[in-house]
Amino acid sequence: MRYLFLFLVFSFFSAGFTQTMKIGLFTNFELKKIKINKAVGNYHVMADSVYLGLVCVNDIMEVMFISSGNMSINFKGKKYISIKKVTISPLFEEQSIQFTGISPTFTARQYEGDFEINAMKSALCVINLVDMETYLEGVIESECGVSQKYEYYKAQAIVSRTYAEKNNRKHISEGYQLCDKVHCQVYHHKRTSNTSIDSAVCHTRGQVLLLLNGDFAPTFFSANCGGQTCSPEQVWDEKIEGLNAFQDTFCIYTKQAKWTKSVPISDWISFVVDKYNFPIDDSLSLQLLYNFSQGERQAFYLHPGYGIPLRDLRERFKLKSTFFSAKKEGEFMVLKGRGFGHGVGLCQEGAMKMAKNGYTFDQIIEYYFPDFLISKVTCK
Ligand SMILES: [Zn+2]
Ligand SMILES: [Zn+2]
Repeated sequence: MRYLFLFLVFSFFSAGFTQTMKIGLFTNFELKKIKINKAVGNYHVMADSVYLGLVCVNDIMEVMFISSGNMSINFKGKKYISIKKVTISPLFEEQSIQFTGISPTFTARQYEGDFEINAMKSALCVINLVDMETYLEGVIESECGVSQKYEYYKAQAIVSRTYAEKNNRKHISEGYQLCDKVHCQVYHHKRTSNTSIDSAVCHTRGQVLLLLNGDFAPTFFSANCGGQTCSPEQVWDEKIEGLNAFQDTFCIYTKQAKWTKSVPISDWISFVVDKYNFPIDDSLSLQLLYNFSQGERQAFYLHPGYGIPLRDLRERFKLKSTFFSAKKEGEFMVLKGRGFGHGVGLCQEGAMKMAKNGYTFDQIIEYYFPDFLISKVTCK
């Protein structure tokens, strides 16, 4: 394994080495009202420049969206109005506090770190200011669950840390760096007490994947590649250095290796005709439409000449992947697919299987990212 240790003076690398992340929470909701309670430890609450007091374990606070730049707060029996910004800060590290959606409703989530709440154009925006390693613990638990092998967690920690560093301006126009959805990396809660995840993050502290020129590597990952990883060109129309399609033999018998789905023929036809002017009156084209298979991953349905990207079909019919075959059966198009996710980069179920088979974290990374260097950055 090309294993590069870079011992750099922190000030030299500080432009790229992030200590505290700003993560947008609940970003898949149009959040109008949220409840904050069950603090483990005490939290200071500020409304604009006014100190409201401490929120403790039995206190409940509610924040409501009124209009852009305007919120109201219920806190310890008092109502505060015309608030622009709420900040919630723990007295000590490793405290956590719970957020529950009231409008819309969503299940409670527990997070560590500091918080800012702002009223954006049409909804609340909750931002978590959290140190990188705590964020990674939450990401790994959300992305991979708590029952994986230690070597897999280490590989995922390096991949996720690199992803966070490389994309740390992805949502900067919205006031935070990364969102909490699969769009960036899933971050749905503070870790439970999983010593394996904590230890994997701790033991890989500062380790990232770099390109030969020293830039952070593009460490994409998805749940299951279906036995062949996907080139970035097929997903995003863009060639990305170091990411090429290859056969993955580790994921083909795993949980999400295969899927099937039936789509009404009328819906299938409407989509290709309305959006791509598919020549439905041409009998040869019609026969092609009803029989499609891909032994190797393709970018287009049937033939590039028809101009129907598989990724558009995936989005329209909410398919697990673009790696599928389609055949007419009665009044349905029956799709038989492989994998789950975009398929670029590290295949999580393949990597989990490698760890179960005894491979180490650096061997897993070498398999999925042979052109990238594991590099350790330490602060002096
Ligand atoms: Zn995002
Ligand atoms: Zn795979």
